[in-house]
Amino acid sequence: MNQKEPLSKRMKLSWREMPFAGIMFEPGSSVEYKTGDWRIERKPQIDGEKCIRCFICWIFCPDVSIKRVPKPYKKHIESVEVDYYHCKGCGICAAECPVNAIEMIEESTDVP
Ligand code: SF4
Ligand code: SF4
Repeated sequence: MNQKEPLSKRMKLSWREMPFAGIMFEPGSSVEYKTGDWRIERKPQIDGEKCIRCFICWIFCPDVSIKRVPKPYKKHIESVEVDYYHCKGCGICAAECPVNAIEMIEESTDVP
């Protein structure tokens, strides 16, 4: 069989008989792709008391895994949370936090 021939010829099918393939019924979305499964050693934990709500971690996270949530704290109207379904545990947020409010903890540790 000549591999360079179109599949329809190799399968001896007309285009009407060809099975559906290469059709995307829904556009690709990284939201559905849980990259947090890749995390193996450590995950970030945010200390809400230390956090000054500067949102630097939100800006620096390469996986958009820091979420701004409408949880008021003192004079702030928002807080930050980690989206563990997508966080890959790179530690950039912890390295960039100006007040060391993010600690990279053992993956097996439960987060409240
Ligand atoms: S550890 Fe990395 S991926 Fe996870 S929230 Fe921090 S910066 Fe984002
Ligand atoms: S970088 Fe640190 S202080 Fe700033 S919002 Fe994130 S956790 Fe809070």
